[in-house]
Amino acid sequence: MNFKDYIRVIPDFPQPGIRFKDITTLLKDGPAYRAAIDAMKELVKHKEIDLIAGPEARGFVIGAPLALALGIGFVPIRKSGKLPGSTVEAAYDLEYGKDRLAIHSDSIQPGQKILIADDLLATGGTIATSIDLITQLGGEVVGAAFLIELGYLNGREKLQGIEVASLITY
Ligand code: 5GP
Repeated sequence: MNFKDYIRVIPDFPQPGIRFKDITTLLKDGPAYRAAIDAMKELVKHKEIDLIAGPEARGFVIGAPLALALGIGFVPIRKSGKLPGSTVEAAYDLEYGKDRLAIHSDSIQPGQKILIADDLLATGGTIATSIDLITQLGGEVVGAAFLIELGYLNGREKLQGIEVASLITY
């Protein structure tokens, strides 16, 4: 399956000059969505992974089904103020903007092997911050898996030492 055929590129969203990769066109197609998650599973199944962590919100629609497919649990990473329990937090830069991310303090036990999953790797800021949070809790980040990687933004360079797997590259 050519997954790129299911991604819609929207020019000038959310700002002029950005060519937004819209994954909703893939998500609404059941067989394509399932095939994409299955293919991502193939990319990471050789790894020893205890948990998947995914950043809000599109990290949930990729990370949670991937966790189910692998038979392991899922930990949400959310914008500051959304998680009800005690959290650790970190500030981060986006391709366009700034925010804070948070994770439940008791969501990861020291030494657990964590795979981070998200829909798209752009500058790597979101994932670098996710790595920071997981590391603060004593988790070991064993890799990062993406549906899409924007190779021209060199996000991989921010994730030194982390094995990166992506299904689609632009
Ligand atoms: P980064 O932190 O790597 O610069 O940006 C990645 C984050 O921004 C991801 O969580 C992703 O959901 C969102 N993002 C940035 N650009 C796009 C895009 O073109 N399409 C989609 N679907 N998400 C994007």
